[in-house]
Amino acid sequence: MTDRFDASRIAFHSLSRRLGRPWVDAYVERIRQRARTEPGARRALPALAGARAFNLRVGPYGEGRENRGLLAWSGGPAAGRRLGVAPGEHRGWVLDLAGRLGAAAAGVAVLDRRWVYGRVQLNPYAPGEPACKAIAFEPVAEPRETDGALVLPDAVNRAVVVLVAMDAGRLRSGRPLEASVETNLGYSRMATVVVSLADAIRAAGYVAIPCMNDTALSVPLAAAAGLGRPGRHGMLIADRLGSAVRVAKVLTDLPLEPDPAGPADPPEFCDTCGVCASACPAGAIPAGERGETPPGPCNRAHGNPWPVDAEACLAWWVEHGESCARCAGVCPLS
Ligand code: SF4
Ligand code: SF4
Repeated sequence: MTDRFDASRIAFHSLSRRLGRPWVDAYVERIRQRARTEPGARRALPALAGARAFNLRVGPYGEGRENRGLLAWSGGPAAGRRLGVAPGEHRGWVLDLAGRLGAAAAGVAVLDRRWVYGRVQLNPYAPGEPACKAIAFEPVAEPRETDGALVLPDAVNRAVVVLVAMDAGRLRSGRPLEASVETNLGYSRMATVVVSLADAIRAAGYVAIPCMNDTALSVPLAAAAGLGRPGRHGMLIADRLGSAVRVAKVLTDLPLEPDPAGPADPPEFCDTCGVCASACPAGAIPAGERGETPPGPCNRAHGNPWPVDAEACLAWWVEHGESCARCAGVCPLS
């Protein structure tokens, strides 16, 4: 038994089951409707297409794409011999490369297996029954996939966590599709960084699992890598960068010195602030005290003391044809 999170419960999948169609189809349909009637939305469409390009090719978003396409858990152009250098030396080139690829910040976490999904849904956004596989750890040298499981080597014990920056001003601008463009750019940048970084680690002779929203919970891993802590809005509040960031990661057996873990709970400032809850058009962020709202079906047990109603959030996106992200844009720590 595992108490690891069942990723078939994430809102992208659960809302698709509730709608009886892939959420993204309904969302894109709504965007097209808006473009027919709103000149501002029509003008933003080409930028949105460009912003989404790599997100769509690699993900989209990543969930349900574990070991698929560019998020494959092995292969790539260069599988090299293991470089015999000290862990400290690997850390230097990995973090340097992450920055050169476009990460605004990067760190190394000890991989706590609690944050790896217990099972994943490999027919993303299916309106019917989820087709799931467990994620298992086994004493194998290379990742593999069987009929019932995606298998990670036991030696995979580090996560290189990368943050890509978004523009908080654009997220809160209220201009048609502006937040959608910024959000999709964030995902496209994430894809570039983790796919490239995974190839680099494989070229050094080690296992590398590139992940966007897939495979493992991003916010606890970012906190474990000392990059920030969760906020009331359920996203990361990154040191220096605030909430206008997206988180991606590469799981690996590369020997890397980890960063000191940071706090795993929201800062005290969130108790009195609540700006994100007031700004949320979907009423998805609890406005009350810590622990007052019980976790919903998309939340993990014992998770954020302000469990966000992720399905209500995504339903708002679908209804309005807009990736919202106001919560990240208005956060005074952004
Ligand atoms: S993205 Fe928008 S709808 Fe979703 S939780 Fe944030 S403010 Fe609310
Ligand atoms: S807006 Fe305020 S309450 Fe919400 S995450 Fe940011 S600091 Fe915390």
